[in-house]
Amino acid sequence: MTNPAILANGLRKSYGDKVVLDGIDLSVPEGTIFSLLGPNGAGKTTAVKILSTLVPAGPGSGTIRIAGHELPAGAQAARAAIGVTGQFSAVDGLITGEENMLLMADLHHLSKSEGRRVAAELLARFDLVEAAKKPASTYSGGMKRRLDIAMTLVGGPRIIFLDEPTTGLDPRSRHTMWGIIRELVTDGVTVFLTTQYLEEADQLADRIAVLHDGKIAAEGTAEQLKRLVPGGHIRLRFTDPAAYRDAAGSLAQAAAHDEEALTLQLPSDGSQRDLRAVLDQLDAAGIEADELTVHTPDLDDVFFALTETTAGSGATVPAPSKETVR
Ligand code: ADP
Repeated sequence: MTNPAILANGLRKSYGDKVVLDGIDLSVPEGTIFSLLGPNGAGKTTAVKILSTLVPAGPGSGTIRIAGHELPAGAQAARAAIGVTGQFSAVDGLITGEENMLLMADLHHLSKSEGRRVAAELLARFDLVEAAKKPASTYSGGMKRRLDIAMTLVGGPRIIFLDEPTTGLDPRSRHTMWGIIRELVTDGVTVFLTTQYLEEADQLADRIAVLHDGKIAAEGTAEQLKRLVPGGHIRLRFTDPAAYRDAAGSLAQAAAHDEEALTLQLPSDGSQRDLRAVLDQLDAAGIEADELTVHTPDLDDVFFALTETTAGSGATVPAPSKETVR
């Protein structure tokens, strides 16, 4: 068993009276993408700043270990293993992209020739060769983010913190960024990604933690999280009205009938076990649907169910299924 790249137990942080992180536990295996998901102000940046050694954890926090180095004592060693990009971008707009890269190479004590080699390689990898001689202030949002990541990679970090890397980007640049992030982990790098976008976490992350009210409201793979909320169902569609009526008569648990569309919906958590039970039941009843589709709630459902609380009671409100039940 290798040690997790990022480990935090009971991470706490308050600013004045405001509790931002109220004891959160995180464990991110090497070479994986972990996403901390939460709305604006949830405390994502605060978590990134603490884990990347930029600000100290609050009193009462448990163990924090980054690349095997315990904070705060091992902060300097941890810093050598990590790269951070995000809202507090390191890009200097007054100098060119290439100059930004060379400055970074200097900071990492690379020799002049090695610095030039690494800069050229990364500028090419991030499609910035043409723009390399232009001031970074002239770059588009997407180009600036790419330059920011390229600069982070100069030091060859094993762990990269990406704080809302696609906030404000247009859809095309967002997809380019997703490709870049996926590529990072193929080299064995660990990525800690914060995002407000459920789709982004769904697309990229091996594991997702939903941050709410200073705590991790839920953690798991996208699929596991989707199973936490109601609304999943199996839909059976028939082309023959007689077959539809037979099925409707013998499937007592059908949650919704649609005579016009000849469909039946059966509640299901989308798990293999559940699906098998339904198929066995259909076989036993001699029901032959023309189409069977499994609908699991999406991450939006999960997010709203986990983060919407009834005023006063603190109880979670289950999100309605996105499928309209007629
Ligand atoms: P997110 O990244 O999820 O948007 P942040 O971590 O930036 O959230 O902020 C979480 C909360 O902590 C916010 O209410 C913010 O105002 C507060 N906060 C963050 N940094 C500071 C600071 N240096 N001083 C006081 N309050 C802060």
